[in-house]
Amino acid sequence: MFYILMIAIFVVSLVIQGRLKSLVSKYSDITCASGITSNEAVMRMLNENEVSGIVIKHTDGDLTDNYNSREGTINLSNTTYGKNSIAAVAIAAHEAGHALQDAKEMAAYKVRQLIAPAVNLCSTLGIYVTIAGVGISYAVEKNVYGWGYRISTIGIVMYSIAVIFYAVTLWIERDASKRGWQAMQQFGWVSEDQLAAAKKLLWAAGDTYAIALASSALTLIRLLAMRDRRR
Ligand SMILES: [Zn+2]
Repeated sequence: MFYILMIAIFVVSLVIQGRLKSLVSKYSDITCASGITSNEAVMRMLNENEVSGIVIKHTDGDLTDNYNSREGTINLSNTTYGKNSIAAVAIAAHEAGHALQDAKEMAAYKVRQLIAPAVNLCSTLGIYVTIAGVGISYAVEKNVYGWGYRISTIGIVMYSIAVIFYAVTLWIERDASKRGWQAMQQFGWVSEDQLAAAKKLLWAAGDTYAIALASSALTLIRLLAMRDRRR
C-alpha cells in the first residue's frame, strides 16, 4: 500500500512539473498588457509596501528565481530578469511577495527560516534513528515499550520537523503567490485573461510544494507504522 502511494505521488509530481514547465514556456511568449517588466513590477510592489534596501539581481538558469533574505536580494533567472511576459511578471511578483513576508515579519516565514538549516539532517537522520530503534526493539528487547521504542520515537520526532517544514513552506509559497497575484490585479499590469493565466501558473508552481508535503507525510505515517507494528 505504501509503495503504491509513493509511486502515485511520484507520477503526480512528474505531471505537475511537466505542467508547470509548459505553462511557463507558454506564458513566457505573451507580453503582459501594460508592458511592465519584471524588475519594475518588483520595485513597485516593494515601494508600495515601503520596503527598501532590496537589490534585484540576475541569476543564471531557468526557474531559479529566489529571494535571499540574508543578502537582501531578489534573484531573477533568464526567463524572468528584465522581461515583460506574463510568466516573468508573475514569477517576479511572487519573489517580491517573499520579500514582503520577510519585511512584515510574517510568523510562518520566521518559523521556516528557523528550522530550514536543520531540515536535511532531521529528515535523513530521523529515518535511520527510527529504523535503528525498531531493530533494537526486535533484536534484544522483551519489552515492547523499551529503549528501542523510545529511540524510534526520537527518530519520528526528528522526521516530524521535516514534515512541519514542508507544511510551512507550502503555506508561505501560496501566500507569496497570493501577494504577487493581488499586486498584478491591483496595479492593472495585465488584462483579465492574463490575470487568470498568471493565477494558473503561480498555483501550478505551488503544487510542487504540495507534493513534497504529501510525500513526507506519507513517509512519516510509514515510520509510525514500523514503530508500532510490534505492539
Ligand atoms: Zn516562492
